[in-house]
Amino acid sequence: MKALFLQTIGNLSVSDAEKPLPRPNELLVRIEACGICGTDRHLFLGEFPSKPPVTLGHEFAGIIEAVGSEVRDFRPGMRVTGDPNIYCGRCPECHRGRVQLCQNLTAIGIHRNGGFAQYVALPEKQAIALPLTLDPLWGAFCEPLACCLHGVDLADVRPGSSVTVIGGGVIGMLVVQLARLAGAANVILVTRSAAKRKLAESLGATATLDPSPGEVIGRIKAASGLLPGGANVVFECAGVKETVEQAPHLAAPGGAAMILGVLPKGQKVEIEPFDLLFHEVRILTSFINPFTHRRAAELIASGTIAVAPLISRTVGLDEAIEVISHPAPGGEIRALVLPNG
Ligand SMILES: [Zn+2]
Ligand SMILES: [Zn+2]
Repeated sequence: MKALFLQTIGNLSVSDAEKPLPRPNELLVRIEACGICGTDRHLFLGEFPSKPPVTLGHEFAGIIEAVGSEVRDFRPGMRVTGDPNIYCGRCPECHRGRVQLCQNLTAIGIHRNGGFAQYVALPEKQAIALPLTLDPLWGAFCEPLACCLHGVDLADVRPGSSVTVIGGGVIGMLVVQLARLAGAANVILVTRSAAKRKLAESLGATATLDPSPGEVIGRIKAASGLLPGGANVVFECAGVKETVEQAPHLAAPGGAAMILGVLPKGQKVEIEPFDLLFHEVRILTSFINPFTHRRAAELIASGTIAVAPLISRTVGLDEAIEVISHPAPGGEIRALVLPNG
């Protein structure tokens, strides 16, 4: 089979590889679609730890082609999404129920071979069934949606809350929808791209803002602004120093800034604790998808969360090298790799 390998940091190539042989508790999955995520670009640049050589791709879904001898609940022909994050179940964090902080966490597409390949081996406990009637591309959004669900859960968005979302990529677009589902009355999306602002409004944002002219905090928080006084929760979904620094300033007193964007390892930001203290603004973080992947699959299978408008383009494995090794072009939300054409 063909697979896209991160050979070393900064070096991607597509080569022939052995089709994985599923272990007794694993499924062999023929990949239908696998999303290219900002994390893949960080992995390529060495800004996120990994174990090359490895096949990248952690946002995948596909059809089961074969099952190991001990697999109980899946059969060939079923469609599945894979939760890429494998916890050990025996470390102190796992025993506390914080599996996302597992001391022995391994991830498919980071530490073991992932979905930028024609086939992937998926442990049965990481698989969640999707309907065969679903659009074959949609399953690739379960993983990013599961990560957003964890963030929205932790940020405690409640009916009537006000929310500001910074960043119009896939995470921002999913958080806008989840915030509305959670009952937020006002959801503002901040992004430079006019196309993304228009899309966000069609997905439930009650207002959008172009940050280009500057004065973002005043234009949102001032008495005459979009959200006078600020938001109960600000989601930073851009992964940029400036917007991480801006996020707590966009929160209302007693509010929170949730950092969902991934900054390069080593990147520092400036905050002013005095200012945070006097407004009791909390800075929160959310890591991956503990026990949220099935909910994400339900939301996508039921059509409750719209993912079709988030697909900017589809590419083959060879073309994917170019896409991963360059920043996403302006206006692009998500590129999907279709390793089997
Ligand atoms: Zn990702
Ligand atoms: Zn563990």
